Amino acid sequence: MTYKKVLVTGGAGFIGGNFVQYMVDKYPNYDIYNLDLLTYAGDLSKHREIETKHNYYFAKGDIADREGINHLFEKKKFDFVVHFAAESHVDRSITDPSIFVQTNVMGTQVLLDAARQFGIEKFVHVSTDEVYGELDFDPTTFFTEDTPLQPNSPYSASKASSDLLVRSYHETYNLPVNITRCSNNYGPYHFPEKLIPLTISRVLNNQKVPVYGDGKNIRDWLHVWDHCIAIDLVMHEGLNGEVYNVGGHNERTNLEVVKTIINTLGKSEELIEFVTDRLGHDKRYAIDPTKLEQLGWKPTYNFDTGIAQTIEWYIDNREWWGGIINKQH
Ligand code: NAD
Repeated sequence: MTYKKVLVTGGAGFIGGNFVQYMVDKYPNYDIYNLDLLTYAGDLSKHREIETKHNYYFAKGDIADREGINHLFEKKKFDFVVHFAAESHVDRSITDPSIFVQTNVMGTQVLLDAARQFGIEKFVHVSTDEVYGELDFDPTTFFTEDTPLQPNSPYSASKASSDLLVRSYHETYNLPVNITRCSNNYGPYHFPEKLIPLTISRVLNNQKVPVYGDGKNIRDWLHVWDHCIAIDLVMHEGLNGEVYNVGGHNERTNLEVVKTIINTLGKSEELIEFVTDRLGHDKRYAIDPTKLEQLGWKPTYNFDTGIAQTIEWYIDNREWWGGIINKQH
């Protein structure tokens, strides 16, 4: 098998972290470089099992630091860039959008410039279905790759901006790129500020679980491992310049998700506490993954098997998420 150098940005975060572990194990002949600034969302303790492997490397750095990024690209001559690094929490973007523009837009541009200057085989930009805005509750409507971009939060607007930059570097400079737009991920090492890990950790601690508004907003849940498989496929087989939506038709209301977790853990639904709705809260996201399926992708989890695996993982890994919650206080 051919030797390749892969730069993964944001590999200390949730999805990037799972992807780094997936790649280090699956491709012993590839060198996997994890570049991460280690913001509040980055954590290297999750990589204890791979940090001594011959094909894993870590560098602390900011994707928006042009000099540092150019130096790294010049030295390493990467074949692939898989770009996860971002500010990713919608609530934080509502409180302060500026870091979202700095990291998600400016940082992406710095990486694109470096990829262009030093040459790469493929740049995979990991984006989100939130760039499409929201759907209504008609269950026959889905986001396709041709749905117009109509982001509603500062977070999704910053991601849509970066998507357009990535697209333009393909159209203008012929940079070999793909954009993936996935639905809400869940699974191991999910930072306990997001709905599923927040709920599991609070229920395990017998604490109240906040649910926005009436809890009827719908998300389309994707197990992080199935997302990793999708990105692997796109980086190797994706047609240059194409966008691929990633999702497995696992729509649930937020309230259904919370109740599933509470019931699986044998606790009372009285733990649920309805709180003031998020500003501009999108009603429904749902992905049409036909194009990716035609490339050969098939999810290995449905929501029932995925949430069961995830709950078990959080029960077995209390030390990891407990440590993060303690650090925040
Ligand atoms: P995350 O917040 O868990 O991790 C982000 C990582 O990026 C962290 O390790 C952080 O330290 C790093 N980072 C932040 N700013 C950086 C900078 N300037 N330079 C280098 N590293 C920096 O995010 P995630 O949930 O793993 O999401 C990864 C990507 O997937 C993001 O681009 C996000 O927009 C996208 N996405 C996530 C979801 C989801 O459900 N989590 C859904 C759709 C798309």
